[in-house]
Amino acid sequence: MSAARYIGRFAPSPTGPLHIGSLIAALASYCDARANNGRWLLRIEDVDETRCKPEYTDDIINTLHQFGFRWDGEVTLQSTQKNRYAAALTALKNQQRVYACCCSRREIADSTQHIGIDGAVYPGTCRHLQNLQIDDQTNAIRLLTSSDIVSFDDRVQGLQTQNIAAEVGDFIIKRRDGLFAYQLAVVADDASDNITHVVRGADLLDSTARQIYLQHLLGYATPSYMHIPVAVNAAGQKLSKQTLAPAINSREAVTALITSLGYLRQPLEGLKSNATLTPSRVLDIAVKQWQPALIAPTRTQTYE
Ligand code: GLU
Repeated sequence: MSAARYIGRFAPSPTGPLHIGSLIAALASYCDARANNGRWLLRIEDVDETRCKPEYTDDIINTLHQFGFRWDGEVTLQSTQKNRYAAALTALKNQQRVYACCCSRREIADSTQHIGIDGAVYPGTCRHLQNLQIDDQTNAIRLLTSSDIVSFDDRVQGLQTQNIAAEVGDFIIKRRDGLFAYQLAVVADDASDNITHVVRGADLLDSTARQIYLQHLLGYATPSYMHIPVAVNAAGQKLSKQTLAPAINSREAVTALITSLGYLRQPLEGLKSNATLTPSRVLDIAVKQWQPALIAPTRTQTYE
């Protein structure tokens, strides 16, 4: 595969320091890109300004650097790309695929008939008020969904199918507080960056159909997707600060990288005597030995 045919990315949200789950996602996306002579971009997904902090952006960039990761081009920040998201929203408005919604969470919870994969399925209350010109500056904006089945073949998780209308409902693409939603931002950025391969945690597996649906509406290409199992503790909880996950410490970068490669079930030849290894040497060896077919085809996996 030539360089031009593979562009991958790692897209952390700076809501805290890099944790082990993000390190595993970074490692998998990096190895897959480099093993295919691809480019590997770093995008900071700080679109949700209420949860992201600039100090975590710096911390994540420094940690990745200390762990030996090198990316192509400049780091990009979603907070600087609002015009891009606004243009995507305008394109959807022009197709009459969106409507403003003034329902509160409480109203949705009280009126919904179904709990879907992401909580209450929006019952479409405001869809019918489209002509009443609900102000879209002070209300959320939802995308009209369809009950056509969206399917894709995930490189690790296999064939996925989803009826977005039934399982998610009309979803928010711009929030009531004026911030663009992740689903719209990530699709606009992946298209603008010409991303060909997305490698990320399986907590986003169920978001992928929404992203493919948006790509179709906006005339964007659909990348190939690979979702790696989310690291959980013995009790099945996602590893995070709340569940006392091991913090990642750059002094133990070599050990953390090798353990993460073991988690991804990669060959560990040449990685045993870690006294002489540096993080970038571990990454070089990992890239040479990269075999994504060995990754467990499960949504979660215990990290020990
Ligand atoms: N920003 C998301 C996260 O940190 C990842 C989004 C993506 O890779 O599409 O979980």
